[in-house]
Amino acid sequence: MKVLLVGSGGREHALARAIARSPELDALFIAPGNPGMAELGTLLPIRADDVAALVRFARETGIDLVVPGPEAPLVAGLADACAEAGIPCAGPSRAAAALEGSKSFTKEIADAAGIPTARWERFEDADSALAFLRRRGAPIVVKADGLAAGKGVIVAGTLAEAEAAIRDIMTGRTFGEAGASVVIEECLFGQEVSLFAFCADERAVLIGAARDHKRIGEGDTGPNTGGMGAISPPPGFGRAEQEAALDLLVRPMLREMARRGTPFRGIIFAGLMLTEDGPKLIEYNVRFGDPEAQALLIRLRSDLLPVLKALADGDLDRAEIAFSDDASISVVLAARGYPGTPAQGGRIAGIDRAEAVPGVQVFQAGTALKDGALVASGGRVLTVCAAAPTAGEARARAYQGVEAIIWDDKIFRRDIGA
Ligand code: ATP
Repeated sequence: MKVLLVGSGGREHALARAIARSPELDALFIAPGNPGMAELGTLLPIRADDVAALVRFARETGIDLVVPGPEAPLVAGLADACAEAGIPCAGPSRAAAALEGSKSFTKEIADAAGIPTARWERFEDADSALAFLRRRGAPIVVKADGLAAGKGVIVAGTLAEAEAAIRDIMTGRTFGEAGASVVIEECLFGQEVSLFAFCADERAVLIGAARDHKRIGEGDTGPNTGGMGAISPPPGFGRAEQEAALDLLVRPMLREMARRGTPFRGIIFAGLMLTEDGPKLIEYNVRFGDPEAQALLIRLRSDLLPVLKALADGDLDRAEIAFSDDASISVVLAARGYPGTPAQGGRIAGIDRAEAVPGVQVFQAGTALKDGALVASGGRVLTVCAAAPTAGEARARAYQGVEAIIWDDKIFRRDIGA
């Protein structure tokens, strides 16, 4: 098989490593990729969201499967353009990607499918949103309806905070057109977990579950980031709980999407809150998480490529999927200054020494080559992952790997999985 993988982060590096191991692989192309991926395939100077250029390359090269990593190309219609060109794509159509692109769409689907989720209302003008808030009171959650890079959700402890959020999102348009409408939701309480599954039409096969750490600071303090680390599985949320949550929160959505004529094919990432009344859906994403993908994929024991091809073909029954029972953890190394302005250009060494620790793998994201040396070129730069029979051992191994990386500007959280 000739495969085109789209993206350039740690998640895509982990996907590339899994795909490169496949006996069914003839050639791997990566757009645009990063220096860590260069030994696994051919890097292409095509941006991940340049749908026209991606499809042109795929057509001219005779690509058998396109594997999108991030959401941007999916929301921009990559899967639809592939379908038109007759190229299998392991990701959802634009219509199905609305599960990530529109919060009100997700809430409508959840209600129609009988999926437990926070009660909600959608508003297109600030005055009625404010009037509703005053009737409901705090705590309450205000969300820009569209995509806002993880920043469009305000969990408001007070009415004043909620009102300010409405003004920012709707009147100030802090998130642009994503704030043309807002969703106001009941506030849920509990532990959060993320559930991942391969999906094709009405079939879902469990990948696993993880808990991520979004804040920059230890003890979950400071500003939000793209993700500073993840553990898998989350304590108390094992295989049985994951399968039950898949039945409750994912399979009914797949049936509803298929019923509407917009079936979902791809990787679903369901964000859940484990409330006193059981798991409730917070959101869907239509792709792997980063750094959750790295922690999940290092435990994969079967061949990923036929699974991705099977889900692109809508035929998951023929796929064999096996994961080890190990616990795993991923720790992100970011550049000093992140999530503000990260320090760039610092030299990075010691990846080999980190990977010499048993069970450890290092994935690259914001890296570049300068005069033959690996340097930092982004905010999140490396993910150090480890798997081991116990969570404690996985954690010890990962941090041993982290210590082996020599890079003056590295910052990371010491409390992932603690
Ligand atoms: P964006 O669109 O800006 O990228 P997002 O997709 O990250 O945002 P959500 O996942 O819906 O947005 O929400 C972000 C976080 O807000 C959740 O991980 C959760 O911690 C919190 N949150 C969302 N909805 C609720 C709720 N109803 N009750 C309590 N907390 C919530």
